[in-house]
Amino acid sequence: MVAENLNQVCENIEKACKKVGRDPKEVTLIAVSKTKPVSMIQEAYDAGSRDFGENKVQEIMDKHPVLPPDIRWHMIGHLQRNKVKYIIDKTVLIHSVDSLRLAQEISAQAQKKQVTADILVEVNIAQEESKFGTSRDEAIQLVEDISKLPHIYIKGLMTIAPFVTNPEDNRVHFQQIRELSVDIAKKNIDNVTMSVLSMGMTGDYMVAIEEGSTMVRVGTGIFGERNKK
Ligand SMILES: *Cc1c(COP(=O)(O)O)cnc(C)c1O
Repeated sequence: MVAENLNQVCENIEKACKKVGRDPKEVTLIAVSKTKPVSMIQEAYDAGSRDFGENKVQEIMDKHPVLPPDIRWHMIGHLQRNKVKYIIDKTVLIHSVDSLRLAQEISAQAQKKQVTADILVEVNIAQEESKFGTSRDEAIQLVEDISKLPHIYIKGLMTIAPFVTNPEDNRVHFQQIRELSVDIAKKNIDNVTMSVLSMGMTGDYMVAIEEGSTMVRVGTGIFGERNKK
């Protein structure tokens, strides 16, 4: 089932790219495997997936050692500062940086382990109270502040769009994120590129791709519904 779903999602990604004249190679599919067992991740791996997203530090720590070493783990969930040290050398990209204090801790731990940390700044584009992320207005200042820290590189922006039944409703948010990333790129800040736009989930990834997403985070669409607690 996982392999079939994966195929379907890849076809949809190609379709969305074709619609707007983009090269599907510009879009990375992150299989969001949170709450899902190692066996299902292995199925997706065998079907070709290499990028996986998790939102809990503990799950990355449990899954990382027992799965193939060429998996690229993405931290996509809210990250507490005291847990940075556990994942700093296990993840390729931390999508969810929304404060200078968190970035400072990532920088310090990266320095300690002698690695560099690639990160995205999470923007709460629809200003939903329930969501983490910096506001659109504060994003540029936060990027400038983080850019001065050692061992940390900002690669772009991430957003979690509102939960909607009609994905078209999120188009405006994806456009706003894209515009914000262009504005930031124009400033030519040291250690900052805006090459990644992490936006789009199961319900709206095709619209996100049409609006410039370079990383879509798809969970349910690949692994099925998550068990609710
Ligand atoms: C769970 C999660 C996803 C995947 O959500 P689906 O709707 O299942 O595709 C994407 N991004 C983040 C940050 C998540 O926590």
